[in-house]
Amino acid sequence: MATAVPPFAELVAPPDWRTVDFISDLHLHESEPATFKAWQHYLESTPADAVFILGDLFEVWIGDDAAADPFAADCVQALVAAARSKAIFFMHGNRDFLVGRAFLASLGISLLDDPTVLGFAGKRWVLSHGDALCLEDIEYLAFRKQVRSSDWQADFLSKPLARRRDIARGMREQSEARKQTGVAYADVDSAAARDLLQRVQATTLIHGHTHKPADHDLGSGLRRIVLSDWDAAATPPRAQVLRLTADGLQRVALA
Ligand code: MN
Repeated sequence: MATAVPPFAELVAPPDWRTVDFISDLHLHESEPATFKAWQHYLESTPADAVFILGDLFEVWIGDDAAADPFAADCVQALVAAARSKAIFFMHGNRDFLVGRAFLASLGISLLDDPTVLGFAGKRWVLSHGDALCLEDIEYLAFRKQVRSSDWQADFLSKPLARRRDIARGMREQSEARKQTGVAYADVDSAAARDLLQRVQATTLIHGHTHKPADHDLGSGLRRIVLSDWDAAATPPRAQVLRLTADGLQRVALA
């Protein structure tokens, strides 16, 4: 029996697009104003016709009904302004999977499925956040399955905002504590990446999530391009865009 190809979305770039940007893992949070400012300036100044945000734009998103919180409102304003002059696409990450499709649409932004195949410059580019491809992280994948279910989300979103803020704070503290232990994080599984590329008949996977920017040769002409995370307050600062034109991919350091 032939294996069914799991669902993926396809997007064909309009012919007038010359430049496409990919960013991810900015983890925007009120405690990191320098990163917010760098991102805001980037949105205002990029020459891109389209910006693809491939997950974890926000460090945390507790529901679209919290979009009026001061920091969230600043972020929303920057997105709305950008969406007036260019196409903005948003893919969920493991931090901001509660950003709603209808909410994004109200800002002029399209929600992208994970994975999505982008047709641009005569090639097919597979876009993903990357977390679902980290197969060794069994505990996380179980958590992911739970929190991506409509039952879990309906239950969480029915809680009062104050309670959701507490839960999110607790999860963030847990994650920070885990980081402090120096635990090794799972990476994208090479076989899973190759399998995905072959199933959708593409040669290049672009993803974030791992915070390990690199260009990996997967053999057989396949490759995996990993986006950088952003931290404008780090030394040296990290604020990088992966830019695609007819000439190919290029990493652009903004700081
Ligand atoms: Mn992530």
